[in-house]
Amino acid sequence: MRQGATPQQVEGVVAAVEARGLRAHAIPGAQRTAIGITGNKGAVEMPVFESLPGVLEVIRVSHAYKLVSREVKPDDTVVDVGGVPVGGRTLVLVAGPCAVESREQTLTIARRVKAAGAHLLRGGAFKPRTSPYAFQGLGEKGLEILAEARAETGLPVITEAVDADGVDLVERYADAIQIGARNMQNFSLLKRAGQAKKPVVLKRGMSATLEEFLLSAEYILAEGNYAVILCERGVRTFSDFSRNTLDLSVVPAVKALSHLPILVDPSHGTGRRDKVAPLSRAAAAVGADGVMVEVHHDPDRALSDGPQSITPEMFEGLVRELRQIAPVLGRRI
Ligand code: PEP
Ligand code: MN
Repeated sequence: MRQGATPQQVEGVVAAVEARGLRAHAIPGAQRTAIGITGNKGAVEMPVFESLPGVLEVIRVSHAYKLVSREVKPDDTVVDVGGVPVGGRTLVLVAGPCAVESREQTLTIARRVKAAGAHLLRGGAFKPRTSPYAFQGLGEKGLEILAEARAETGLPVITEAVDADGVDLVERYADAIQIGARNMQNFSLLKRAGQAKKPVVLKRGMSATLEEFLLSAEYILAEGNYAVILCERGVRTFSDFSRNTLDLSVVPAVKALSHLPILVDPSHGTGRRDKVAPLSRAAAAVGADGVMVEVHHDPDRALSDGPQSITPEMFEGLVRELRQIAPVLGRRI
């Protein structure tokens, strides 16, 4: 739509799309509203829409993914997570434990990361573990603890839902719903998250191509939830000195193809505590909208992902460095 198109003009186009049995997705942006059209079998009659009041241009999207593409929406999407904008000028710092282990553990870490400058708190109550014998998370009790940590620190909370049913519960407590790497192509989960009223943080599958990653995000937008944040967390390669290979080159690639914001998770991306700060700095430099890092006050006793969890002191040092790097890139913390 043209800049300054009225809400009535937007509604007029939506009505014209729906009258043809198609689905209209009015995606608001800082400059203008973009209206994505899905559900068409063949080409859409472009002249019909071009002549409607308020329409700037009609574009045929060449990619397999549509609503996530920059062709549909040229300006960057800023996703609001409990009042924290992700995808704008701020380099967003998401920090917290891999898993919520106890009230004391989570509150201790939440206070420390908040004091250091974190914007958002992370922590899993439902953990997707490789072994069925490993700690699976505290479930709803963990969500209650996260809500308490938010109430005390003011940090909005990101936490994972591992199945479609779990979204009901996570949606009630969290400010954003995380979908993990192992679930990036769990299509029923993606569709359910697309119906949620909360933003979604979608992590890249460990062997997903860029197109597969964007098509998974498309599932969520296609259901009407346009508040999606992507997250690069490393992919499997032959390289064995790190848990995964953090694919930082995907960040500018995503930026070129999609309007969605992207975070980088150097904790899962490397699996090693000593690599988290260097790759966080690199993530900022390559244009990520923020970093998501695992922090634990006693990492050697953590119930999950201890080897890659940094201490609160290390997090403080990292924030100091990122505060210096951000302005060079036209960002702030
Ligand atoms: C996590 O964030 O703790 C997690 C399980 O991440 P991933 O899905 O990327 O492995
Ligand atoms: Mn983890």
